[in-house]
Formats: sequence, C-alpha cells, structure tokens
Amino acid sequence: MEPKQSSSDVPAIEARELTHAYNGHTVLHNLNLSIPAGEIFGFLGHNGAGKTTTMSILTTLLRQTAGEVKIAGFDTLSQSIEVRKRIGYLPENVTFYNDLTAYENLAYFARLSGVEQVDSKIDETLAFLDFRGVEHKRLKTFSKGMRQRIGIAQAILHDPAVLFLDEPTSGLDPMGIKNLRDIILRLNKERGMTIFMNTHLLSEVGKICTSIGVLSMGKLIYTDTMERTRRKYPDEASLEEIYVRMETAETP
Ligand code: ATP
Repeated sequence: MEPKQSSSDVPAIEARELTHAYNGHTVLHNLNLSIPAGEIFGFLGHNGAGKTTTMSILTTLLRQTAGEVKIAGFDTLSQSIEVRKRIGYLPENVTFYNDLTAYENLAYFARLSGVEQVDSKIDETLAFLDFRGVEHKRLKTFSKGMRQRIGIAQAILHDPAVLFLDEPTSGLDPMGIKNLRDIILRLNKERGMTIFMNTHLLSEVGKICTSIGVLSMGKLIYTDTMERTRRKYPDEASLEEIYVRMETAETP
C-alpha cells in the first residue's frame, strides 16, 4: 500500500510568499516553507499565530489572499482535486455522526474520498490502528481518545501521502498522547506518510518531529531540522526558552 507520492525529490509541502487576510486584516505574512517527503513537521505557535489558517490553506479548505502552495507538486488552487487525493486531514474538533456506528461513519468518509473496497479498507485501517472490534459501536459512546483514533482512521482511509493534524493531542490524557505518538511514528515509518502537525506542545515536538517551524503573529520566525535544533538547543528547557524568546522578540 504505497502512499500517493509522485517523487521523493518533489517537496511534500511547499509554500511561497503565502499571505492571508481576513476582511483586509493580514494574519499570514509571506510565509515560505519547503518540507521534504518523509518528514514529521511540527508547526508551533501561540494562540492566534495563524496555524489553523495556514493548515486550512494547505488542505485546500481556504483560498489564500496571495502566494502559492503546492502539495506533492500539485497547486492547491488550480489542482485542488489532485491535492485532495493526496492529503488526509484531522481537524482539532473532528465531527462525526454520533448516532451512527464507527463503521457507518468511516464508510461515509470512505465513499466521499472515492475509496474502493470500502469494507476491506476499513478493516485494514482499524487493524493498523489496533482498533478492531469497535465497528458496530455508536460514536456517541466513544471517549475523546477513541474519537481521535476514528478521526485518524477517517483521515488515512485513502492512503494519503501527506497527513495534516491540527492540535492532535488537545484534550487527550497522557496515555492517549503516547498512543497517538506511536500511531504518528508508525504512519511515518511503515506507510511513508509525511506528517504536518500543528501544536502548542514543545515536549511532543521534541519526541517525534524531524523538523519544526515557529509561527509568531503570522510570520514564520524559525524553521530547521530537529537534529540541528537539538544541537543548537540541547535540552527541552532551553528549546522552550528559545521559543519564548523568539515569540517575545516578535511581540511589539
Ligand atoms: P489557535 O492555536 O488558537 O487555534 P491559530 O494559531 O490556529 O490559533 P488562527 O486560528 O489561524 O490561529 O487565527 C489567526 C488569526 O486570524 C487570529 O487573529 C484569528 O482571530 C484570525 N481569524 C481566524 N479565523 C478567522 C475568520 N474566519 N475570520 C476572521 N478572522 C479570523
């Protein structure tokens, strides 16, 4: 089951001079980003920095005011159908039909994404997530962690090349966070997915990301590989310090 990646030398995600304004108020300023295929990219920023706006544009849900975005080489505006085939998206608050079962919810999403052999795909995906046996339970009986796992199932049913996760740890307990981390690492290693993850949690970024970007007031103020970042800021405390310092430096 190969992800739909065209070629590994084409960046998984590329943004050039990406700018967005809501009602004339600019919230993203000339963002430039190139994320190679195979990365787990942590996109850090305070509340209101512009992370969700960026993710909405990268996932074709929002049209940018200016600039260009390509996913696996396809333009998000002129080739949005090709982009959608190649991406999975887990929003911060994923919505399901609570009166339907897990299977019925997943089958609905699978058909929307044009998945063939829906039954076997759902079975295979739940097995990958170690989550078989919940198919016939209604979503309204699920805990936050269980909903999250069904959310991930929904996002990966069509084997996307790039998976977008918006604050995926929000509301999860420590065990839920650990389980999610294991799933993200397996999706990356075993299924070759590039992961783009919005987060506030520096500790999570340090544990799983291979590269990071820091957004402050709509500007990308730092981006580098995790390896170089670790060398520059060898412990989590200093990484946190530098994050706070970078953010403070940007605040007028
Ligand atoms: P959080 O971590 O709180 O989710 P964020 O980094 O995801 O924040 P965004 O939600 O992208 O930030 O918001 C960036 C800015 O854009 C904020 O000032 C926000 O108030 C504004 N904004 C977001 N969505 C809209 C909208 N639909 N209309 C007008 N302004 C918006």
